[in-house]
Amino acid sequence: MTVIRLAALSLLLACGACARTLPVAQIAAAPKAETAAPHAKNVILFIGDGMGVSTVTAARIYDGQSQGETGEENLLSFEHFPNVALVKTYNTNQQVPDSAGTATAMNSGTKTRAGVIGIGPAAHRGDCAESLANHLPLIAEELADRGKAIGIVTTTRITHATPAAVYAHTPERDWEADSDIPSDQRVAGCSDIAAQLVAFPFDVAMGGGSREFFGADHGGKRLDAAADLTAGWKEATGGHYVTSAAGLGAVPRDGKPVLGLFSPSHMTYMLDRSSGTSEPTLSVMTAEAIDRLSSEKNGYFLMVEGGRIDHGHHDGKAAYALSETQEFARAVKVAMDKVDPADTLVMVTADHSHVMTIAGYATRGNPILGLVMNNDERGDPTGTPALAADGFSYTTLGYQNGPGAVRGARSAPPTDPKAAQQSLVPTGDIFNGTLNLAETHGGEDVALYATGPGAEGVHGVIEQNRIHEIMLGAIGAAPATSSD
Ligand SMILES: [Mg+2]
Ligand SMILES: [Zn+2]
Repeated sequence: MTVIRLAALSLLLACGACARTLPVAQIAAAPKAETAAPHAKNVILFIGDGMGVSTVTAARIYDGQSQGETGEENLLSFEHFPNVALVKTYNTNQQVPDSAGTATAMNSGTKTRAGVIGIGPAAHRGDCAESLANHLPLIAEELADRGKAIGIVTTTRITHATPAAVYAHTPERDWEADSDIPSDQRVAGCSDIAAQLVAFPFDVAMGGGSREFFGADHGGKRLDAAADLTAGWKEATGGHYVTSAAGLGAVPRDGKPVLGLFSPSHMTYMLDRSSGTSEPTLSVMTAEAIDRLSSEKNGYFLMVEGGRIDHGHHDGKAAYALSETQEFARAVKVAMDKVDPADTLVMVTADHSHVMTIAGYATRGNPILGLVMNNDERGDPTGTPALAADGFSYTTLGYQNGPGAVRGARSAPPTDPKAAQQSLVPTGDIFNGTLNLAETHGGEDVALYATGPGAEGVHGVIEQNRIHEIMLGAIGAAPATSSD
């Protein structure tokens, strides 16, 4: 069974206020990873965006109940992994982090500011000139130089923060197409994330976000109406560009790279696919990526993101987050069925948490998305919804903040699976005069699950940037962090 050992606490400073003034080298100075031989040939990093511990627990119950079980006893695929650690997710300038800073920590080995990608904390967000002097080496760059194949798979736009941190350097995560970059910053020499992807030597890249690669003539948002970055990429690499699950299935296995962009923006939520879609699922993309990368004799580095877990939570709709987590766990299972556990390190983690909680004293097997139904004094189910002190029922899952915020007196919560759960604080932004409520990230630790060569280095409570060192150590490469 999995045991979380708490003995090896890192020597890193835990004080957030201190972190802001610390030089980069001290933050990056993690203890040496305990990753002895045998080395891994391949490394797969699965990131469930926003998949905090409460999300994993609720998704485990959701998954079990979707198979007719009570649910609590269920385990998601990656919960069978032998090694587990807790991961501290803060950014150098934020107590509760964002996905750009956290993904940069994992890909570069250096914690940095929120909002920046592949850029060290000395640069400010949105400052092109500063960013150019503070590029961080990325694990995909280092491993591509060593002859490893590189794969990137996500359900968000392929230019969104988490996948971008595999291949891009930018002081602003929102610079996904050239039209997103203010002209004064563009002339300073920064290129957009889509342009950086097509210049990167990847072997497989799949997700959404085609609009970032095309101009208006092709329904995209690039400055040049005729722009088509995929055409230039095909010409330069001889690779295959596909836009549907059917197209992906038909691509020859000829060793040429594959770029799959299956939707203009993010890919469709699993819950909204009932009417059918031409988009592949995360597990289908993962299977295809591994099949293609496995033929590379030098091995591969693959990052797979369940990117819309986070979006379901921001919408305050747990059913979306849980069904995305369920598909993410399926993708891990698909990977485990395909890889050789003796030569592949598989790591599963989240970049940060969310403010969803599992509350009340619901009876065993109570529907995880439903109203709390308690037990009676004798410990048997009452069979009726419990009532709060205001006389109304309440759901097991709720949020500390976001779209479900109750204003004035509370009423009975909706139980439509596509409805938002009730919350307390109406967090959000006013954008173009419209109030957009959004639930926020959570700041507590996330879990890291690992199996395969190098997984023995995964235990205790670690800083998030150490994930980079564990992966490089497993592959037998010396960490090239910015502390060098
Ligand atoms: Mg993400
Ligand atoms: Zn988020």
